[in-house]
Amino acid sequence: MFKMRPAKEQANIKSPVSREAAEEAVRTILRYIGEDVNRPGLADTPGRVVRAWEEWCAGYKEDPEATLNTTFEDIQNYDQPIIMRDIDFISHCEHHMAPMPGKTHIAYWPSDKIVGISKLARIVDVFALRLQSQENLTREIAEAIDRALKPKGVAVAVEAAHGCMTTRGAYKPGAMLLTRTFTGCFESDRALQEQILSALKS
Ligand SMILES: [Zn+2]
Repeated sequence: MFKMRPAKEQANIKSPVSREAAEEAVRTILRYIGEDVNRPGLADTPGRVVRAWEEWCAGYKEDPEATLNTTFEDIQNYDQPIIMRDIDFISHCEHHMAPMPGKTHIAYWPSDKIVGISKLARIVDVFALRLQSQENLTREIAEAIDRALKPKGVAVAVEAAHGCMTTRGAYKPGAMLLTRTFTGCFESDRALQEQILSALKS
């Protein structure tokens, strides 16, 4: 997970809502669930909650294009997929704002340029640190790589748990949702899809 920007830089980013208004909204929820917002244990909770959400949603302040704009063209005759597996993330679902921890696996088949491997991990967080649906998260990662590198194809697989159904609602703690998306050469070739998916899993 990438580091937060320094507080000073963070403060320069305009939000339509003030920090105070956001903290007041947390107090409202605390009252709604039956809490006494004046008890000492909750004194700093609204501030902490708001700062925590700034971190959990820090991806809104990141530009996917800037994240992937340093590329390397000296790939000589490398002509095979590049695969990065098990990139951990913690996102939050847009329906409940519940934690959505998971792993992303990325493969792309370069045409004439590649990107530094840490940038693949960062692009996951650019999109994961937002309110998300897993389907959109999967697609947005693939599309960003596709746009930046114009590779022969991209395959992205995501597996995640959804706090909204593991901790409440359906209460199925072990359930994982699997999503995947393919572009370019992976899109129409079933055999290649199977091959790349087994490489992503093994
Ligand atoms: Zn949800």
